[in-house]
Amino acid sequence: MFDFLTNVKNYSQQALQAARYIGQGFAVTFDHINRAPTTIQYPYERLIPSERFRGRIHFEFDKCIACEVCVRVCPINLPVVDWQFDKAIKKKQLKSYSIDFGVCIFCGNCVEYCPTNCLSMTEEYELSVYDRHELNYDQVALGRLPLAIGQDSLSNQIRGLAYLPKGSLEGHTSL
Ligand code: SF4
Ligand code: SF4
Repeated sequence: MFDFLTNVKNYSQQALQAARYIGQGFAVTFDHINRAPTTIQYPYERLIPSERFRGRIHFEFDKCIACEVCVRVCPINLPVVDWQFDKAIKKKQLKSYSIDFGVCIFCGNCVEYCPTNCLSMTEEYELSVYDRHELNYDQVALGRLPLAIGQDSLSNQIRGLAYLPKGSLEGHTSL
């Protein structure tokens, strides 16, 4: 008889414990029901990057003085600056400029230290290609302004994720 009562008591305690665990699980579930989603339906929805997002670099050929500061401050000496010295005007003349985004770590040093501000970070983050050599952008590709995500009519723009700072709908506006 005593064993039976002990078993009933143990069973009751275990049942109560199980009910408590189930209650805790439901509490977590109900808590998340009221939260904003943390995933989006890409590419039908796109995140608007934060204002200080470091995306693909934009380059303005006409402003560049071929000083190569960007190369010296780059942790991997990445930008390729090809120039020739013009004796007539005693100045460097830029011939070509390129950055390989397959190698770039988007640290922003080149943008930060460029004395003529001809480099800037855009909000462009869709850089996938089939051939990695296509990620080596010359001055023409670097000079292209990205389509601002706010102007893309094919997808919804999402800025409501709780962990993201408020982004800019205007996109790249440094020019
Ligand atoms: S630091 Fe700026 S101006 Fe100098 S070479 Fe690089 S991009 Fe051109
Ligand atoms: S962002 Fe950083 S790694 Fe990329 S080119 Fe500029 S300095 Fe180099």
